[in-house]
Amino acid sequence: MATAERDYYELLGVARGASDAEIKKAFRALARELHPDVSGASDAPERFKEVAQAYEVLSNAESRRLYDQYGHAGLKRGGFTPTDFDLGNLGDIFSAFFGDDLFGRSARGAARGGDAAARARIELAEAYTGVTKQVVVEAAATCDRCEGDGAEPGTSATTCPTCSGVGRVQQVSRSVFGEFVRTGACPHCGGAGRIVETPCAECGGEGRTLATKTLDVEIPAGIHDGQQIRVRGAGHAGGNGGPAGDLYVEVRVAPDERFERDGNDVVASVHLTIVQAALGATVTVPTLEGDVELEFEPGTQPGEVRVLRGKGMPVLQRYGRGDQRVLVDVAVPRQLTHEQRRLLEQFEQHSNEDTYRRDEGFFEKLRSALR
Ligand SMILES: [Zn+2]
Ligand SMILES: [Zn+2]
Repeated sequence: MATAERDYYELLGVARGASDAEIKKAFRALARELHPDVSGASDAPERFKEVAQAYEVLSNAESRRLYDQYGHAGLKRGGFTPTDFDLGNLGDIFSAFFGDDLFGRSARGAARGGDAAARARIELAEAYTGVTKQVVVEAAATCDRCEGDGAEPGTSATTCPTCSGVGRVQQVSRSVFGEFVRTGACPHCGGAGRIVETPCAECGGEGRTLATKTLDVEIPAGIHDGQQIRVRGAGHAGGNGGPAGDLYVEVRVAPDERFERDGNDVVASVHLTIVQAALGATVTVPTLEGDVELEFEPGTQPGEVRVLRGKGMPVLQRYGRGDQRVLVDVAVPRQLTHEQRRLLEQFEQHSNEDTYRRDEGFFEKLRSALR
């Protein structure tokens, strides 16, 4: 464990004097909450491991006593090494601890396959409508030749004599502090519970081969850049008939030059010339549903915002949509001909304070435009 050593009681959320039953209950509740099949939190696997280790120590009278008296250092000196759980074996940790399976899966040597990752790139317009994308995944697949058995067709595997097919053995270690009994994977069969004498020629006895597959992944409308979609059972095939892992597809939404996305809202800007802004104009503005004509009143100011209600992105997995905000930008001429200069100078001579006076409703209008 690379992380700092945390207090085991604190990890499980129990008092130091907690009974075995309380510790077991706390662990079960946390495990159900943190199991990576259930929790989407990115730190869930790491937290799960910590909690499992805490339970491993506190559920055993000897190691608990040692921990109570000497803390983490005492465990180390006593020769106690916590199991380094990995994602692939989380599923059957439960059968090891409880003799049953938390998620109702087949245990006994069957190992859940690891999770696989892939990436899908989509356009904002596709995030708007939702889209089905083909995703290429390289993942372990059940071997066709032996159908995942691992034994060459015509031969069969034998039950492991060391663990009698259970896949787990109790390991006893002695130390100055006493004796530890710990359940671990059988060293003879590696936890499979069986020995393959004539391995399959295709997969070498693994029961799995690496395969490239193309999957259609449904990306829901309203998805945000960087979000992940979990496709159950589309990860690496499990071992010994265990369930497959999941596939996590990270969705990248390409920036769209017409819009800036702001949560479920989109922001577009519209450029009016000083003349259009002064005289009023009807301008074409892009929306996610296509171009619309927007009318701007005479005297439109730079920085004004027009809100198009419900013209933003769909809200992911819920009803409703965000808004589109249209920001007014007014372009001031940069290069003038002599004639244009003359006309503007003439315009200026005809201007007075009324020309630029704010009409009384301006602030109210602006406020309502900004919601
Ligand atoms: Zn095979
Ligand atoms: Zn064995």
